[in-house]
Amino acid sequence: MNLLDHLSIGKPAYEPTHALAKDCWRVLQTPLRFLKGVGPKRALQLEGLGLKTVEDLLYHLPFRYEDRRQIKKIHHGTIGQEESFVGKLIALEKRYIPKRRRQILVGTLTDGTGSLGLVWYHGTPYMAKMLWKGQELLVHGKVERGLGIQKRIVHPEFESIEPGDEGERERILPIYLRPGGIPLGAIRRWLAQALGEYSNFLPSFLPEAITRRQGLMDLRKAMDQLHQPYKTADLFSLNRFASPAHRSVIFDEFFYLQLGLGLRRKYRSALQGISFTPNGESLTRRMRALLPFALTSAQERVLEEIYGDMASSRPMQRLIQGDVGSGKTIVAWFAALRAIENGFQVVCMAPTELLAEQHFRNLKGFADRLALSSALLTGSLPVKTKKETTAQIGRGEIAFIVGTHALIQEGVHVPRMGLGIIDEQHRFGVVQRMGLQHLANWRASSAPSLPQPDILLMSATPIPRSLAMVLYGDLEVSSLNEMPPGRIPVKTKLFTEKERSGLYELVREEVRKGRQAYVVYPLVEASERLHLRDATRMAEELSQAAFREFRVGLIHGRMNVEEREQVMRRFKEGALQILVATTVIEVGIDIPNSTVMVVEHAERFGLSQLHQLRGRVGRGKDPSQCLLVHYGLSNPQALRRLKVMETEHDGFMVAEADLSLRGPGELLGTRQSGLADFRLANLARDSHLLLESRREALEWLAKDPTLMRQESLALREILKYRWGSRLELGAIG
Ligand code: ADP
Ligand code: MG
Repeated sequence: MNLLDHLSIGKPAYEPTHALAKDCWRVLQTPLRFLKGVGPKRALQLEGLGLKTVEDLLYHLPFRYEDRRQIKKIHHGTIGQEESFVGKLIALEKRYIPKRRRQILVGTLTDGTGSLGLVWYHGTPYMAKMLWKGQELLVHGKVERGLGIQKRIVHPEFESIEPGDEGERERILPIYLRPGGIPLGAIRRWLAQALGEYSNFLPSFLPEAITRRQGLMDLRKAMDQLHQPYKTADLFSLNRFASPAHRSVIFDEFFYLQLGLGLRRKYRSALQGISFTPNGESLTRRMRALLPFALTSAQERVLEEIYGDMASSRPMQRLIQGDVGSGKTIVAWFAALRAIENGFQVVCMAPTELLAEQHFRNLKGFADRLALSSALLTGSLPVKTKKETTAQIGRGEIAFIVGTHALIQEGVHVPRMGLGIIDEQHRFGVVQRMGLQHLANWRASSAPSLPQPDILLMSATPIPRSLAMVLYGDLEVSSLNEMPPGRIPVKTKLFTEKERSGLYELVREEVRKGRQAYVVYPLVEASERLHLRDATRMAEELSQAAFREFRVGLIHGRMNVEEREQVMRRFKEGALQILVATTVIEVGIDIPNSTVMVVEHAERFGLSQLHQLRGRVGRGKDPSQCLLVHYGLSNPQALRRLKVMETEHDGFMVAEADLSLRGPGELLGTRQSGLADFRLANLARDSHLLLESRREALEWLAKDPTLMRQESLALREILKYRWGSRLELGAIG
């Protein structure tokens, strides 16, 4: 790539490219208070809003562009149209409107062809300070019919202007989010300043081959065009975030993340793994015979993918994602058998004791019939049992081990560990995941020469492909996108507050038949600020009124783990018939007898979250129902969003809808990872660019796997600054 070309735009030419990348980054971190026109007070205000540095400001991009290329004469203003006018404010007065009990501000603008009324109902004192008689103004807004023949604009946008060049005023106007009500004019002024002084330091280092292939422009030029579009620019594509400038900035964002993820994957796949060969297939074959059902074709496909990884001498890192009930466990079990028949131990880690117990109970039966040794290891076991089990594991006597993260904490040593399985992987942090990997190299983490175990992750939160490429871009992903036969979809229905009594009756009918029910609330306790029903108060109320005849329990996140597990256990055993809960009800917990779920304030949940909740019912042979109660949903779009739940039962489709309606932040597990925090890029909208950037990044890495070549050094620097800590690239070096 030709960096010197990039640099020739009026700035001193720096020498080595990576040093330059470093400089760029450093300069862009200049605090905003050093920008001309931003005083200390404003700087503080901006900082509170997340705009701290020049870089933050430059990336504070317009969310909309207005067409002000046509300044109309007032006489020609058209009722019902959004239009712009320039004129002189010849009258301005506050008026008290008794009927509205408030003061309004009324002005008159003239341009020689007519007069235009300007009206403000809100913010009167503030507006009055910004406006004065005789002022030259550019106003913009929807023209309405005023009193008599006069036209008017209510709450116009306006800019004070110096009399002068009309051409300058006629333009495409960028509209910004105005944090804290900062005037648009000020934001534009600061941006002009920042662009002038700093845009040359925007690190535009994508290799030329890529920018040419993808039709991208230099980052500096792109920023200029986004903040100060040409008069001839295509307004339509600007407003759809699809202009060439938008694409360039978005690609730049995606590319580095994909480069980082690719680098991580490359690093791992260079490690020595274990090659599990299918020669001693006896266990697998015997298991097939024991299986009470046939695997679905999705299960067979995923299993083949896993076997492929396991046969390779590289350590596997594969994620199986599949809806609740799609049958992940049995797939993992077959993977475990492949490792065991090769003479290795397998460790399966679940996020809670209850889930660990459930897995153990389900799989121990198979293990026993195959004459395999198995053990459960959780924190709450008696110390003596734990000690004995740990010792047995350490002697390599136990082939299949199920546990919670106590496994890691208790310093268990698994000398022949060949495969680690992590269920509900999003519940674990990176540290715990790494910990599992190191169980084999216990007290010998300094011995990376030991072969790495394969790792199989499972997640019941299906996410769209685009998001998976961001969150799991360094993993191989398999999708179980087919349900075992005979599953009856959970009948889902929306209710309003008024329909509550009918809803309770539905629940009572089911529970009288001997079934169990969940009632889910968004909060544990009443909140002053949010007038929501809460779990604690409602558990009380329901047990005394609507569900008086039943045994009602309560579970929420403020209870400690033991209390929670105990309540869950009592519900599972049937001692409780109705469980009032927050969202803490275990993922993947299998209570086939629960057939009704009520979710209160459904409007406050993400669709994926609702889908997850819904997965707790419909696990048995009986038809189940999910009843979503919403409050005051006047917004038709919000209602449409919830309606998705009534018709859609495929977790992938629900997640797709969620992503496009609410953005990635709302999808489970996304926020914690920090990997979907883009400044401009949007995973739902820009998935095509994401694919392209991934392809380019992987291609680049194929040519330069460690980013050590001269032309990669700048990329390496930028990567380090943008994603280094979030991707833990430090460990990779
Ligand atoms: P999840 O993907 O939520 O972990 P599980 O593995 O717990 O799902 O499977 C849910 C239930 O479906 C279990 O009772 C399991 O035995 C059963 N199951 C799994 N695969 C099949 C299949 N191919 N046919 C019928 N039932 C199956
Ligand atoms: Mg392998």
